[in-house]
Amino acid sequence: MNNLERLNKIILKEYPRLEEKDKFSFECHKGLSCFNKCCNDVNIFLTPYDIIRLKNRLGISSSEFLENYTILPVEANLKHPIVMLKMENDTLDCPLLSKDGCIVYEDRPWACRMYPIGMASPSDIISNEQDEFYFLLKEPICQGFTQNKEWTILKWKDDQGVNEYTELGEKFKEISCHPFFTNGKILEPVKLEMFYMVCYDLDKFREFVFRSSFLKRFEVEDEQVKKMKNDDVELLKFGFEWLKFSLFGEQTMKLRQEYMKPIQ
Ligand code: SF4
Ligand code: SF4
Repeated sequence: MNNLERLNKIILKEYPRLEEKDKFSFECHKGLSCFNKCCNDVNIFLTPYDIIRLKNRLGISSSEFLENYTILPVEANLKHPIVMLKMENDTLDCPLLSKDGCIVYEDRPWACRMYPIGMASPSDIISNEQDEFYFLLKEPICQGFTQNKEWTILKWKDDQGVNEYTELGEKFKEISCHPFFTNGKILEPVKLEMFYMVCYDLDKFREFVFRSSFLKRFEVEDEQVKKMKNDDVELLKFGFEWLKFSLFGEQTMKLRQEYMKPIQ
């Protein structure tokens, strides 16, 4: 069992399961002595939408972002690539941290917005349970729990802008928790690369769509093509549909008659 599975097993077994209506007390502000300490030596998994927000915030391409700010953990039993923020080698600080706090605060990743709330999706981990649940991540260092401000989980998510991440998070889950994976099937290397390109290296996917024979092979509405050229979110949604077609054999796309051989 890898580390991720071990951690998730503990969460499933030991953490009280919370719902959106459940309450907790918490407040985070610069005046606390723990300020910034939680952005050190921390595992932040990035979703495709996190990467769009971060690379655009930093004004760099997805390839540059992945190269400079992330690692790809290699764990046995991982069904598909996952991407994490790479902590600084010497200090183990998050590379997006300054003494005044997070330099990308308005575009911080989903996991950073959610803290101190965790969310478990048992089906994408190790069990056959389907229901997602929330739990409180009470890091010993965190003094936010000593503050009296009261929240429900629902209010916290609203306040932290989590809802902007929901639509693409759900769409990503359709890929990352697809029955193909939960039934134990494994992607061949070329398909793992397709997964990585669409989900994480979106600018490379854009080049692939617009500079290869892709648009000659697939029927794609002109309006859709126009949107994908400049809109990362539209391109990502399209990429998810292409992954369903290419990885899982779903009829989400139409090949042009003259190109009935699936794209490799
Ligand atoms: S440790 Fe907790 S209270 Fe302190 S800065 Fe981090 S989230 Fe805020
Ligand atoms: S992205 Fe921002 S909030 Fe998240 S760990 Fe890094 S510095 Fe902290």
